Order: sequence, then structure tokens, then C-alpha cells
Amino acid sequence: MTRDPRFDVLFEPIRIGPVTAKNRFYQVPHCNGMGSARANALVRLREIKAEGGWGVVCTEETSIEPDVDISPSVGLQLWDDGDLPLAAAIAAGIHRHGALAGVELMHYGPVAANRDSRGITMGPSCLPFPSRLDPIQPRAIDRADLRAIRESHRRAAKLAQRAGFDIIYVAAVHDATLPMHFLSRRHNDRSDEYGGPLENRVRLLRELIEDTKDAVGDRSAVAVRLAVDELLGPSGISCDGEGRDIVAMLAELPDLWDVNLSNWANDSQSSRFADEGFQEPYVRFVKSLTSKPVVGVGLFTSPDAMVSQIRRGVLDLIGAARPSIADPFLPRKIAEGRLDDIRECIGCNICVAAHRSSVSLRCTQNPTAGEEWRRDWHPEIIRRDSKGTVLIVGGGPTGLECALTLGRRGFDVTLAEASDEVGGRVTREARLPGLARWSRVRDYRLSQIRQQPNVAVYPSSTIDADYVLEAAPERVVIATGARWRRDGLGRSLRVAPPVSPGARILTPDDIFSGAIVTSPVVIYDDDHYYLGGVLAEKFRSEGHVTILVTPEAAPSAWTAWTLELGAIERRLKFLGIIIHRRHQLSSIADDSVRVTDLTTAREFALQAATTVLVTARVPRVELYATLDAIPEENRPFKSITRAGDCNAPGTIAAAVYAGHRVARELATAPYPALRERIRLER
Ligand code: ADP
Ligand code: SF4
Repeated sequence: MTRDPRFDVLFEPIRIGPVTAKNRFYQVPHCNGMGSARANALVRLREIKAEGGWGVVCTEETSIEPDVDISPSVGLQLWDDGDLPLAAAIAAGIHRHGALAGVELMHYGPVAANRDSRGITMGPSCLPFPSRLDPIQPRAIDRADLRAIRESHRRAAKLAQRAGFDIIYVAAVHDATLPMHFLSRRHNDRSDEYGGPLENRVRLLRELIEDTKDAVGDRSAVAVRLAVDELLGPSGISCDGEGRDIVAMLAELPDLWDVNLSNWANDSQSSRFADEGFQEPYVRFVKSLTSKPVVGVGLFTSPDAMVSQIRRGVLDLIGAARPSIADPFLPRKIAEGRLDDIRECIGCNICVAAHRSSVSLRCTQNPTAGEEWRRDWHPEIIRRDSKGTVLIVGGGPTGLECALTLGRRGFDVTLAEASDEVGGRVTREARLPGLARWSRVRDYRLSQIRQQPNVAVYPSSTIDADYVLEAAPERVVIATGARWRRDGLGRSLRVAPPVSPGARILTPDDIFSGAIVTSPVVIYDDDHYYLGGVLAEKFRSEGHVTILVTPEAAPSAWTAWTLELGAIERRLKFLGIIIHRRHQLSSIADDSVRVTDLTTAREFALQAATTVLVTARVPRVELYATLDAIPEENRPFKSITRAGDCNAPGTIAAAVYAGHRVARELATAPYPALRERIRLER
């Protein structure tokens, strides 16, 4: 296949100071939970992006000195010569495929609690940082500190250049870097030439750009990553206020402007709250103030949307973090006219959650993310090494991914799904408010399966043990999912609450099947991820009086990891949903529920015509159990494996991963996972 000429503009080379990117696809800096702690994995992750066609591939945040330590979060370091081998390996891997290598140098300022290094935290002012609860205050930076910080940045820039990096960043982003803290009136109350009017507050950023240019000469480009809007209105940096003024003041100084929103939750909004191109209104002014190339992000997965950004003069380079994780080969697929093969990011932020919990990157759409080195999984290449027949029962994310991957390995695969639509929980949940893009998990896999003559999908096909014994496939994979509990057991309740016989109790499965809800509806959310909150949103928008009860301190509490918690709370509040935090379900009567305040132990009643229990799931394991109980000598099949939610209920990402792993390892010795080993210094 060949490239559609309307996308040619995306493949034009772009000059960035002294270097030239081969195209406009720019993988912006993004964290990944690997850093120097998982060095081999990191090198492979970045190399594969370059192989996938990105013109520029950047590192994650890279600290410039030991005392800007944000442990337990993991990142890269460029402190001294000892950091060169890893940095050089990353740059070399990127160069091997003709991409430019970028490095995001970072001083975290007052965000660095220095929990591990035990250094002194420093910031523009001696004010505790709002979003960090560590009981510390930064020392207000003095002149000697400033000289030392500038020297560290200069040294790190030189190291980066020696390691082979082509683009070296000064970062003022995410409300998490020192130059941004100096820019901000909220964090900077200094009275010297670095505080007060914006001309003063911008001084450190200007100096760091000049220092970096001076340090790297004319061999590497110097990029500035700037948050042009904090979505805080007049009290913060904004695109029609100081964000614009900062760009105007420094317009021609850097070789590239990488612009976005702050804080990270605003920058990496999930698809529940943001559409493709959502940052355009905030960043579009930048190009009118500078002749330098501008890169920006916004969940870009569609080449038409990318071309539109270029043609309309919004951006010069299409930045991507999440879309490059979901599909490291996105540029190549556009180049080769294989648009149907693009594995589009669904905007769920599971990748963000992995980094924030300091574990290797993972992705709902791309099960190989984070496993490129550890399990030697390539996102596009699977050895065609097998034959034989496999029956997969269940067409949810587990079954679909398993079928796709087994098909690629050469098996003759039959996938049977009981419902008239495949997709399992993805199909059901994507109908809920804000989750439509999750259907991409199903659609990508179905479109790939259709290209494989050796994989047949049969909807409306309920499989029982007799069928399996009669069909006698060589191998059986059970991916029958899980059902929601109806008895209230979950994280907080280990004994089922008393229920009166006339009570109307529904589970999420009932709602998916079209059960009617009557007002007032009480949701007891003991699951704590998105579903309780999304159902509340659905019921409220249908006009029901909606009450959400949660034993946690916040609704959908786990979404703190995916950076969605603030937006979810805001939405539930605006919709008028009544929330009882830190409350536990005690009993369910015909027209009410009793709940207990976990702080005071006080019990009281809430009116409830319908009670929806979002607590825990039970694996649908009956078919597996029946088949597995057959003595080995009587089985017509060689193996039976269960995977996904019917094995252990979890996230959609876990289901896709499970399906992929079973498929990679079926009828073969399991891949030994490689381990990162720390070398002892003495
Ligand atoms: P997972 O996340 O593990 O893929 P899902 O619940 O999303 O789990 O999907 C499981 C799918 O299996 C559902 O679509 C369900 O209809 C299907 N299923 C369950 N039991 C059977 C069966 N006996 N025969 C065919 N399909 C089944
Ligand atoms: Fe996109 Fe979700 Fe994958 Fe992150 S985890 S890259 S948001 S699909």
C-alpha cells in the first residue's frame, strides 16, 4: 500500500535549529516508570518508537542533580559521566532508525521532596508546595544556589550532547519544574530581580535557555517546553495572559517551542473529558509570535486531524505521548497507507497510572508496552511458528486479543461469543457517558482479525462443555469474563448486608442489559475505579435523583492514579449527584438503604427506590471448571487455559495483556522474563 498524498505534508523534513527532523511526528517527553532503574527496558522502548517512524523521540524527565529527587517516582539522570552509558545507549537506539533524540532536562524545584537523597528542597520562595503533603518547606533559593543550579543545568546539557542527543530541553511545565515555579505568581513571592513583574520572573528561564545554548553550541537544538495555560484563570499562567507574554518575550530564543497545558492532569486529560486536538484553543497563538517550529499534543491519532493542525497553522510538528505508546508504529502506518492498522489510543490513562505507581509502562491498547525488552515482545512482529486448532470461548478484550495474536502465530482459531456483538465488557461499557472511545479496543482487533483467513469469529454462539468435547479442538482458551456480584461483598464488606425481599437491587450487568432504574437511585461503589462514577453520571443525566455512597474518601478514588479524580469529582458535583464519602452499606430495605458513617459509626437511612451495587466481580468460570475436571486421558484437547476476567477480574488493560500473553506462550515454553540487575559498585 502507498501513502495517501493528502498526508504528504506530515512527512516533510523540519529544521529545528542546527538539526533536521525527517518528518513532523514528534514523540514528546513522556514518563514510563522505567528510568534508570529499568535501563534495558527504557533503551528498547525508545528504540522501538524510532523504528516505528517518529522523526523525534524524546526521553522522559531527566534530573540534572541529586538533590532534585522525586522518589519513589523513577526517571532518568544526567548528573555526571557515570550516567553517560545509559544516555548514550538511548540516543544510539533512536539514531539507529534515523530519528532525532531529545532529552528533557529537569529541575523539580519545590516538588522534589528529596525523600531518598535527603537533600534540601529549594524553590523560589519558602512556601510549602500545595500538592505535596510532605511536612517540609523549600529553602528560598539565594544567589549562590542560582549559580549552582545554572551550572548543573549547563553540565547536564553538555553531558546530553556527549551522549548524542540532538535536542536539549529547558522545561517549564506541569507545575513541576523550577523555571515554571519562578514564572508563577503563586509560587514566587521574591522581591529581588527574579520576583515581582513578569520580566523578572521570566529571568531564570531566559538564563537557562542562554546557558544551554552556550553549552551545546551549534551542534544541538535547544527546546523550551512551556505550559502556556494552567486552566486556573487569572490566578495562573494563561494563554491570553502571562502564557502569551512569556512566549512573546522569549519568542526567538529557543530553537523549538513545545507547548502544552499544566498541571499534568490538565495536559494528559483522559478521553472521558477531552477530545482529539483539545489543546488547540490554548496553544494556537504561539505560532503567531515566533518563527521557530512549534510542537503540541492532544491525543492525536487521526492523520486528517494532524494535517489540519499543520494546514491551519496551529502546529509545525505533531506531538504525541499516549498515541505513541498505544501505537509506536503510527507514523509508519500512515506512511504505508495502512490507516486501518493504527492501534488508536483510547485515552484511558492506564499508562499514566503505571508511571505514577513507579512500575513499568503498560497500555490498554498495546499489550507489548513495557515488555519490549523484558519479554522480547515487538509491537508489530510475531513469529509465525505454529499450527493446530484453537477454540477461544468469549469475545471480550481477552478473547479478541488472544485470537488476533494466535492467528498471527499461525493457529487456526475459532472465537465463539455468546452475545450477538463481540467486545464483551468493552462493548457494554463504551455505551456509558464519556467512554465511547474505549470501543477502539474491540474495533482495532476486529479489523485486524478480518485480515486473517485463519481466524473465524462467531457471535451469538454460546459454548458448553458438550460442544467443546464434540468439536474437539486441539487447544481451548476460556475467556468468559466475570459477572458483578449481587450480594454487596467487596473491599469493605466481607459479610453480605441484610436485604429485604422487596428491595430493588441491580448490578452493572443489569444496567447493561437495559434494566430500568427508578428514583432515587443509590449506588454503592466499593469498586473505586470509574464504573460507579460513570453510572452515577448516566443516571443523573437521565433525570434521576442520584446518590453515590463510597467507603473511600473520594468517589472513583482509584482514578487518582489516572489523573482523572479531580475532573470526575467536578463533574459529579456539577451534575448534582449527592456523594456520601467514607460511608459503608449496612442493609437494604424495600425503599431505602441504611449506611454507616465510617468516621463516627453513626447509621442512618437514605431513600432508595433502586440500589445499584458496584462492588466486586465473580469469575464466570463454570465452563472452565467442567472441562478442567475431565481426567487428562479422557480429554480430546491437548490443553485448556483460562485468561482475563474469568481468571482474575481486573482492568481492560489486564485482560488484553492476559489474552496476549496466553497467545504468545500457548504450546511453547513460557518466555523467561528478563530482569534488570543492578551492578554493584564495589
Ligand atoms: P474479558 O475482559 O476477560 O475479555 P469480558 O466479560 O469482557 O471478559 O468478555 C467475556 C465474554 O465472554 C462476554 O462477552 C461473554 O458474553 C462471553 N461468554 C461468556 N460465557 C460464554 C460462553 N459459554 N460461550 C460463549 N461466550 C461466552
Ligand atoms: Fe492510550 Fe490508554 Fe494506552 Fe495510555 S494506556 S496510551 S491512554 S490506550
